[in-house]
Amino acid sequence: MAEKQMSTGYIDTQNGDAQEESLRMVSARPIEGEPVSDEELRPETLDGFIGQPRLKAQLGLFLKAAKKRDVAPDHILLAGPPGLGKTTLAMIVAHELEVPIRVTSGPAVQHAGDLASILSSLEAGEVLFIDEIHRLPRAAEELLYIAMEDFRVDVMVGKGPGASSIPLTLPRFTVIGATTREGMLPSPLRARFGFTAHLDFYPEDELEKLVERSAKVLGIVLQDDAAHQLALRSRGTPRIANRLLRRVRDWAIVHDLDQVGPDDVKQALSLYQIDSEGLDRLDLAVLKAIVNSFDGGPVGLNNLAAMVGEEAETVETVCEPYLVREGFLVRTPKGRVATSKAWEHLGRKPPEDVMKLF
Ligand code: ADP
Repeated sequence: MAEKQMSTGYIDTQNGDAQEESLRMVSARPIEGEPVSDEELRPETLDGFIGQPRLKAQLGLFLKAAKKRDVAPDHILLAGPPGLGKTTLAMIVAHELEVPIRVTSGPAVQHAGDLASILSSLEAGEVLFIDEIHRLPRAAEELLYIAMEDFRVDVMVGKGPGASSIPLTLPRFTVIGATTREGMLPSPLRARFGFTAHLDFYPEDELEKLVERSAKVLGIVLQDDAAHQLALRSRGTPRIANRLLRRVRDWAIVHDLDQVGPDDVKQALSLYQIDSEGLDRLDLAVLKAIVNSFDGGPVGLNNLAAMVGEEAETVETVCEPYLVREGFLVRTPKGRVATSKAWEHLGRKPPEDVMKLF
C-alpha cells in the first residue's frame, strides 16, 4: 500500500517492500548480514554525536537539569527516518545519566504481559528504550500510558472469572521511544513524552565530519576530499555513510593502500553502481525511463514501474523518496515528472518547459 509522504520526502518502507530495501547498499535500514547495532562506530557521549546542533543543545540542557535535580528525566520521543541516530541517542542519554538501559521494540512485545514484566523489573532511574514504538500492540500501549504517567502497572493474577489485577508501584524511570512514523502514535501516548525530538537528514558538511570520525575509529587514513566524496554519496544518512566507508576500506585493503584518496572512493563505490549523487542502479533506471522513454513525463506510477521491471510499490516506497527529496523528480497530479536536475544528471539538456517549471 502506498504510504503517506512526509514533508522530507521520506516514506517508511516498514510495511512496504522491505525485502528489496534490505538488499540495497544505499538502504537506510541495516542490510542483510550487517550488524543492526554498529557498536564500534556509535559515539558514547553527546559531544561525540555529530551534527543536529539544536537537538544536541536542547537535549544537553534537558539532561543537565534532570541530573541537577537528581531525578529521572521526563520521557523522550525520538522521531525520524531510519539510520539517523535515534538508537545512538538513546544510548547516549543513558550514558550521560550514568544509568542502565533496557532495550526492546514494538514488534518484540507480542502481549501486554511481555511489557508488564519488563516494566516491573526496572530499577530506579533506568532508561527503557522502545524502538519502533508505533508498532506496540494496542493493549501494551494502554499499559504503557499508565506506567509512564503514574509509575504503576496492573499485574493480572490468576485466569478466567477468578482473575484479579494487583497494582504494582514502579520506581521512576525514563522511557525513550523511537519511531519512524510519529503520525501513527496515538495522541494519548504522544502526550506522555515531555521531550520530543525530530531528527532530520544530515547536510554534507556534517556527514563529512561523521565519515572522518568513523575513519579514525576504523583506522582508515583519508586524504583530502575523500570524506567529502563519501558524504556526497550517503543520502543524508549516517548509517549509509558508515556502510559505504566500510566498502571503501575493503577496496583499500585489497589494493594495499595506506591512504584512501577521492578517486579510490569513486572507484570503489562505482563498483556498487553508486554515483556521485548517491543514486544507485534502480534510482537511475527510474530517471532514465522517465527522461528517455516518456520524454520527461508526466508518467503514471504503474507505467513507470513496468518500464523498469519493478513493482509499483518498490518504485514508490524504496526509490522515489530520495529522488523527490533531492529534487530529481516531482509528483504531479498527472504523474511523475523528471526535473531539470534529472535531465542534466543524465547528460541531457532539459526542454524549455521543464526548465521553466521544474
Ligand atoms: P536509527 O536508530 O535512527 O535507525 P542508529 O542510531 O542505529 O539509527 O544509527 C545508525 C548508525 O549511524 C550507527 O552506527 C551510529 O553509530 C551512526 N550514527 C548515527 N547518527 C550519528 C551521529 N550523529 N554521529 C555519529 N554517528 C552516528
